Order: sequence, then C-alpha cells, then structure tokens
Amino acid sequence: MVGRTAGSLCGCSSSDDALEASERTRLNLNTNLARRTLVFGGLFGLTGLSSGCDRALAQSPESRHSPLPFSFSGTPQQSGVVICTTVPGAQIDASGITTQADSDGRFVMGFDRDAPSQALISISMGPTIARFGLDVAPRAYQVTSVSGLPKATIDPPAEALARIEADAALKRQAFDSNNPIARGFEEAFRWPLDDVRITSPWGATRMLNGKSQRPHFGIDLGAARGTPIYAPASGFVVLAEPDMHFEGGMVAIDHGQGLITTYLHQSALAVEVGQRVTPGTLIGYVGSKGRATGPHLCWRMRWRGRNLDPSLRVQSA
Ligand SMILES: [Zn+2]
Repeated sequence: MVGRTAGSLCGCSSSDDALEASERTRLNLNTNLARRTLVFGGLFGLTGLSSGCDRALAQSPESRHSPLPFSFSGTPQQSGVVICTTVPGAQIDASGITTQADSDGRFVMGFDRDAPSQALISISMGPTIARFGLDVAPRAYQVTSVSGLPKATIDPPAEALARIEADAALKRQAFDSNNPIARGFEEAFRWPLDDVRITSPWGATRMLNGKSQRPHFGIDLGAARGTPIYAPASGFVVLAEPDMHFEGGMVAIDHGQGLITTYLHQSALAVEVGQRVTPGTLIGYVGSKGRATGPHLCWRMRWRGRNLDPSLRVQSA
C-alpha cells in the first residue's frame, strides 16, 4: 500500500554539511585527475545524445561508430540512477565523478537533485575514449515546513559537536565503501517497510522550526515505533550505529558500485557491520531517535557524494 499523509517526519539534513564539504573537495580532485586523463587520452569517440529506458546507445545512429560500447537501463532523471554497461574495467567519468566498470562492464551513474538537463559520460580504455550525452529529465520538489523539533538538533549545543564530528567520520567511511562483490545495485528494490505511508517526499526544501535548511535528502515513511525495517536489495552492512546525534539508530548498506542506502531514526538495530543482507532481511525497527518529530523511517541513498532518491529504484514506485 502506498499513500501520502501528514505525520511524523524528520529534519536530518544539516549534519551532512561538513561531511559534504570535504567530499566535494575530494571529488573535485578526482575530477581534475579525470580531465588530465582526457587531455592525454588520444582518440575521442563520437558523442551520442539520447535518453530513455533500456536504450542501447551502442546501436543508435549517433554512436554506431563509437570505439567503445555503451548502453544503460533506467530513466536518466534528477535524483535518479541508471545502470550502465560498457567494456569490463573501463575508466568512467560520469559528469565529474570518476568510477570504473566492473568485471561485467557494469557501472552506476547517479544524477544530482538539481542536475543540469544534460549529463556527459566519458569512457576510456587504454588510449581509446568515447563520450556520450544523456538527456536528464527534471523533477519538481515540494517546499515543506517542520516545527516542534528538539532545539538541540536544530542548533546543536557545544558539547554535542565532538559526537557530531565522530558521527560524520563514521558516515564518511560508510559512504566511501565500495564492495566489489555486492551486486544489489542491479536489482529492483522493494520498499523497506511492508506498509508505505510517505510523510515527507524526497528532495523537499525544508523550513525547520521557521529556519531555512538544505533540501531534505530522504524520503520519510511514517510507521509505528517498532515496525520492522527490511533491506530493499542485496548488499553488505557498512554502518550500524544505535544512537547518532542527528540520525538516531542508523544502518547503511553497500549495494556495490558505490551505491549506498541508509535508514535513520531506528529504535533498535537487527544487523551488524559486515553482515550480508538480501532483499527482505530484517535490519532494524522504526523509531524517533535523533532529529525527528515522531516515529518514522528516513530512507536515503548516496552514490559517490551525490544524494539520490531511493524510491526511484523501487519497481512499483
Ligand atoms: Zn527524513
């Protein structure tokens, strides 16, 4: 069941500011390296511009003469993901994010919440480079207002700063995870709750206790305290913390190719770091720990520093 009602939600976004500033610095360095590779890479392929689902650009007129194959499944859209296929082991520059195709030639590309209307992908293998463009569909986001949050989670007291920094280090480590044998990124996700009631949509611009904040990079699902939370796809647990300052009980799952999902505000956890999960594995229980107005699950997804909407991976969404 999927519905949209008012109810419990969270405002757990501002804690990521410091974390993301350091990630941006690191990713910019990677981008500069990638640009140097292009300069010295030699042969450039043709640019094939296209969009759509399951379109094989390698077979389209624009890219027929490309020196490297490229196809993808999924819809290129803001805050979404496509699963791409090319030559195994190829180096990829996906609009400034560097990654590498796996042994099957698969890689993930995620699009920012406010990604521009066209994304560029460079694929390089030895001296050969092929470039492709994807049209990225726009999305509309809501403006929401949240009040009644604990003041300490809006303006953290000085004594909480050490804990917030420690939490950020744990999250950074989890988001950097890149398990080479995890294949969940290819799977159609299930919802993490059996009954789905969306209390705050992904990407909404938030006003918290009357103060403007960054967009909400999670989708809030209302549920009673203690409701079981299930893994939506296969992967490995890379973070399992019972009580973080903003996030409360939090679990992160590495689905492979840099695709990480997180589950916030849990009252209790049912998994440990390193544990392998499959679709439907119990990972914890809904709660209201951290910055939350009541019991709900805040579900999030990251790909190499980009915040994505996990519900777009759900087959029935
Ligand atoms: Zn949330």
